[in-house]
Amino acid sequence: MAHLRFKALELSNNRPKVEVQSPGKISEFYGKDVFGLKQMQALLSPDIYKKVKKSIQEGTKIDPDTADVIASAAQSWALSKGATHYTHWFQPLTGSTAEKHDTFFDAGSGIEKFKGSALVQQEPDASSFPNGGIRSTFEARGYTAWDPSSPMFVYSNTLCIPTVFVSYTGEALDNKAPLLKAVEAVDRAATKVCQMFDKKVTRVKASLGCEQEYFVVDKALYANRPDLVMAGRTVFGHNPARGQQLDDHYFGSIAPRIYDFMRDFEVEAQRLGIPVSTRHNEVAPSQFEVAPLFEDINVATDHNLLLMDIMNKVAERHSLKVLFHEKPFAGLNGSGKHNNWSLITNTGTNLFQPSNSARENLLFLVFFINTIKAVYEHADLLRASIASAGNDHRLGANEAPPAIMSVFIGSQLTSVLDELEKKGNIKVEKGENMYMKLGIDKIPSIILDNTDRNRTSPFAFTGNKFEFRAVGSNENTGSPMAVLNLIVAEQLTEFYENVQKEMKKGAEKRMAIVSTLRKYIKDSKSIRFEGDGYSDEWVEEAAKRGLSNIKDTPRALDAYLTDKTRKMFAKHKVLNDIELEARNEIRWENYIMKIQIESRVMGDLVLNHIIPTAIAYQNKLLKNAEGLSALKIDNKEVVNIIESVSGYIGTLRKEVYNMIEERKRLNKVEDLRERSIGYCDDVKGKYFDTIRYAVDKLEMLVDDEDWPLVKYREMLFLR
Ligand code: ADP
Ligand code: MG
Repeated sequence: MAHLRFKALELSNNRPKVEVQSPGKISEFYGKDVFGLKQMQALLSPDIYKKVKKSIQEGTKIDPDTADVIASAAQSWALSKGATHYTHWFQPLTGSTAEKHDTFFDAGSGIEKFKGSALVQQEPDASSFPNGGIRSTFEARGYTAWDPSSPMFVYSNTLCIPTVFVSYTGEALDNKAPLLKAVEAVDRAATKVCQMFDKKVTRVKASLGCEQEYFVVDKALYANRPDLVMAGRTVFGHNPARGQQLDDHYFGSIAPRIYDFMRDFEVEAQRLGIPVSTRHNEVAPSQFEVAPLFEDINVATDHNLLLMDIMNKVAERHSLKVLFHEKPFAGLNGSGKHNNWSLITNTGTNLFQPSNSARENLLFLVFFINTIKAVYEHADLLRASIASAGNDHRLGANEAPPAIMSVFIGSQLTSVLDELEKKGNIKVEKGENMYMKLGIDKIPSIILDNTDRNRTSPFAFTGNKFEFRAVGSNENTGSPMAVLNLIVAEQLTEFYENVQKEMKKGAEKRMAIVSTLRKYIKDSKSIRFEGDGYSDEWVEEAAKRGLSNIKDTPRALDAYLTDKTRKMFAKHKVLNDIELEARNEIRWENYIMKIQIESRVMGDLVLNHIIPTAIAYQNKLLKNAEGLSALKIDNKEVVNIIESVSGYIGTLRKEVYNMIEERKRLNKVEDLRERSIGYCDDVKGKYFDTIRYAVDKLEMLVDDEDWPLVKYREMLFLR
């Protein structure tokens, strides 16, 4: 069987050469495949253009006549780009994106046609997408509806129209609809708060910049690993002698083969208006990162999904495979998707940017402290928003950061908050004096030299934005970002009401704000942590503080269904009870499927690859032992190896069959939550590590010539 591995290595060595052409100046092709404002302005009459722009920027509805005109312009633009089809591009709860292509060509009339109605709405067959029981309960069919706030684009000869996906009874069936609603909620709440300071603020937008981590492996080697193909991660594999302990990969130059791939996918991304700006190696061998500049959260989310798709496609051309799994290789760093998030007003103020003006610093502190308080209040929900089978390997597993939510703000801002908390009831004073007394007049100079970045924190303040780092590399950011914006909306609403209450009691506005903030600083103190988030001490300390450390997805998901969460989602009209319950059913089911697949791959590999290989090797050794003994030579060492090998074979047979029995038992459990907990504790928990341990031991015992699976060291050091 070893021939399979050697064939793969040979294929990898003899892969076709890829010619990478220099793309020329980025400014010459950037956004060429996007039907953005610029293209619309060129193709639409001024009054229609004004309507579209208003709709994009303010969310106003587009009437059918206008939609017809836009559709026709979009069609001629798309045809000029070589498009033959159009599709509503949407984000079903499976995690990726989906499309249903229709051709522009109308065979009846013999010409291309694209009506406003087709732009605005389409009907994919909702029954083939997960809906968590909504469909069967309500006999609802689904439709996709155009989201003008994210621009259309031409991709693979198809005009792609970003859309939301909802059922006919109005329930959201995708990741985008709740995100858009949460962003509206935070806009409403934040605008109200800003207006206490500045009446010119009429809109607050959430921004997102995603740093995407990923691994790259050779395609032929990937194909040799059924675990990578089926489950996206290696379920077996002994650690290479050199892993990431030297840290040399992080600082090293990018391997030429990877560099070509990066340049290629960046060009495609840039053509589609994705502002990719940085690229570099990551800590683990064969691990990399790409980050675009931040954008409006909805567009940034669409762009991240599109970027992942582009990377998959371009990798194919380079005989490579991109791994977006959160933990493709045991013993090496996992991959995340750092979500850099901030709130920016229509007047151009980043609400998380400390400034030179003391008065504006109070506004900064309002948003800063309310965000910390929001994380404190809803830490479990935030934890749930990033829960997935893949991310469980990153959070809470032995070699990864714990699943404890905490906030890092740096030592300088900590002392600002400490001072603010301590400063008693200072008197109201006119002008800047009061800010000085509160110690908040000099924040800016402090922040600029705040270089102490704690990389171990799941949620860190990084100068002018918060960075949610616990998000998994494969996650649709729509899900955690909907939660983050929602909890901040909830918190800001409460803050606003509190301040109003104090003012009604006669407090001066600034004093009402400051005293509310002081209370929040005290209340939320336990969520702040500046130390090493990866240390064992923190796990203990967090437990003392009463912070949760929910290690697995099935249990983490409960936070979506508490009364507190349900009320908040309903109050801000983001998701109703039915939708929340349906989503959890899907998540639990998804978790079960993932673990089931991993368990099956493990079983199949053990029974079809590993055990036969070990037995063949054992036979070789037996012959050797017999030969030695015939010559009266001591064969003790060989017999020892035979015993080890046969011991592991025995363990594997037993454990795999027991694991299969356990799956059979669990598959009869009706309740999805209960079944997913069973899969977590009784399949993954009881068997995965034991089976892996035995297989990885055999990998070290069996002759390298005989081993069937491509090894870590062969996969991880691409040149
Ligand atoms: P890091 O040191 O963590 O790599 P960078 O400064 O490179 O941080 O920024 C990472 C990401 O944060 C980029 O996508 C960048 O555009 C984004 N970012 C910067 N400012 C903001 C902001 N105000 N809001 C949201 N994202 C931002
Ligand atoms: Mg970062």
